[in-house]
Amino acid sequence: MSDALREEVALGCRILALEDQGDFVWGHVSARDPAGRGVWMKAATLGFEEIRAENVILVSWDGEVLEGEGRRHAEYPIHTELMRARDEVGSVVHTHAPWAVAFASTEEPLRPVSHEGTLFVPPGPARFTKTGDLILTRGLGDALAAAVGDRNAAFMVHHGIVTCGPDVVAAVMAAVLLERACRTQIRATAGGGPKTWSSDEEALAKREHCYPPALLRQAWDYLARRLDER
Ligand SMILES: [Zn+2]
Repeated sequence: MSDALREEVALGCRILALEDQGDFVWGHVSARDPAGRGVWMKAATLGFEEIRAENVILVSWDGEVLEGEGRRHAEYPIHTELMRARDEVGSVVHTHAPWAVAFASTEEPLRPVSHEGTLFVPPGPARFTKTGDLILTRGLGDALAAAVGDRNAAFMVHHGIVTCGPDVVAAVMAAVLLERACRTQIRATAGGGPKTWSSDEEALAKREHCYPPALLRQAWDYLARRLDER
């Protein structure tokens, strides 16, 4: 069971690398341990594209490495506290997604100018502004989880993004789509817009049509095949 989960976390990391969300060795993907011991998480000191199943380690709710070889990331409370706060969250992603970081600093609301934005809007990603520094304590992890609320994504302003979902595919694809939505809006802004975008009603319909779990899985499988070609 945990072997398949470790493979999935590792593949999620490599997909995020393919999507240009790596920041040297920083950023992480996690999945809830089915036995409730903590989170299976990418090990520190490695880049996303380097991660294989053996580099995914079991980190307890208190940050102890329980299984696997490697150092845990200092920012593990991003993952443990969001999962502690929400039983239905099975996976958390944190990256320093460059377009999203740039976009968050504009203080503009995210608009569904293309398909991607409709996964988040309405109501839009949360904004975490308590600190732009690292999330090194349970208290800050808890504050981040409170800011995320029941949403699937948050901008960690001056820092990065956090996304979550019921499983690794949902959390990783949310990170991929959020970054693409921000890139599209910045392009629209550079062109003098955006002046028009989907209404809430249209966005909600598109969310159902474009991004149900089966279609997110198709996009994930496609990205996995692109990695295989390398
Ligand atoms: Zn970070």
